[in-house]
Amino acid sequence: MEKRIVGHVDMDAFFASVEERDKPYLKGLPVIVGSDPKGGMGRGVVSTANYKARELGIGSALPIRKAWELCENSRKTGGDRCVFITSGSRGYGLASSEVFSIVHKWVPNISRASIDEAYLDLGFCKSFKEAKKLAVELKKEIKNKTKLTCTIGISNSRMVAKIASGYKKPDGLTVILPRNVDKFLRPLPIRSVPGIGEKNEKIFHRLGVKTIDDAQQYSWEELQNAFGKHGFSIWEHVRGIDERKVESSREKRKSIGKHHTFAKDTNDIKKVAKTMGKQIRLILNEVRTQGFKEFRTVVLTVRFDDFTTVTRSLTLPSAISTITQLELKSTKLLLPFFETAGNPANKAIRLIGIRVEKLN
Ligand SMILES: [Mg+2]
Repeated sequence: MEKRIVGHVDMDAFFASVEERDKPYLKGLPVIVGSDPKGGMGRGVVSTANYKARELGIGSALPIRKAWELCENSRKTGGDRCVFITSGSRGYGLASSEVFSIVHKWVPNISRASIDEAYLDLGFCKSFKEAKKLAVELKKEIKNKTKLTCTIGISNSRMVAKIASGYKKPDGLTVILPRNVDKFLRPLPIRSVPGIGEKNEKIFHRLGVKTIDDAQQYSWEELQNAFGKHGFSIWEHVRGIDERKVESSREKRKSIGKHHTFAKDTNDIKKVAKTMGKQIRLILNEVRTQGFKEFRTVVLTVRFDDFTTVTRSLTLPSAISTITQLELKSTKLLLPFFETAGNPANKAIRLIGIRVEKLN
């Protein structure tokens, strides 16, 4: 049986960290990303606070006017001025795809949970020791390339991996071996179990349950009485039982392609072939980053100076994967456009696009 090793990567104070990275003048100041505080009158909540702001008691989901108040109080007693940033920056999406294409290079099967979180299927590692080594290297590369830090949790289920990634932040790495799962879970507050929100927490408090250990004292019948149809899965979760698989988001991505519009329409086959060569390298790069190995279909799009657009495709009996192979197939599709039969009016080319499909 394949070993179940699951990772959960969570970027540290993501939005605030991206802001700090991109705006050096924020360094050392409490930064709060969220809705507009409107001088203490604002509605809405904090989306992310950096660690400096967390020292003032400001965290995600706190009402923004409360955050403003805490900042004012701290400033009056000599603290730093807080910086409020109204979220909505495009930079977050960019930073996120930067981070997760690095993750993808290390782990073929990942499941994105949000803009700054993903589950990793580490079943291909032979042991937890090997998975930990991989996580150390992955963290290093993310930090070097994006100047952002993340925290990784590793265990034998999605649920425990997620709790583990929240255990020691920022820039942490926590591995919970299967034999230690129970010991790790028992002292934690019941709210640490993913899926136990404010409402379920209240029900637990009414039962006198504060920790996961307390909850373990209840039978699944009792939990079903208290929580209805969720009772049984809660019973499993407080024991660290979570069979959910890491379902990869990569299958959703069905094609990878690039196109280029020439600065001046052209009939120069050398020029077009050179551009195509560049696109092919970029495509193959992305194929790897997305965790694919090979593909079977190549699609060429050509748009002429009069905007007529022609698409030609080729589906191969067996998959290909190298630059040379893709160059050969694309050239085969391209050549007719430079011959009388394929381009009788000898029209100049305005745009060229290459795409690969049927990815594996
Ligand atoms: Mg995060």
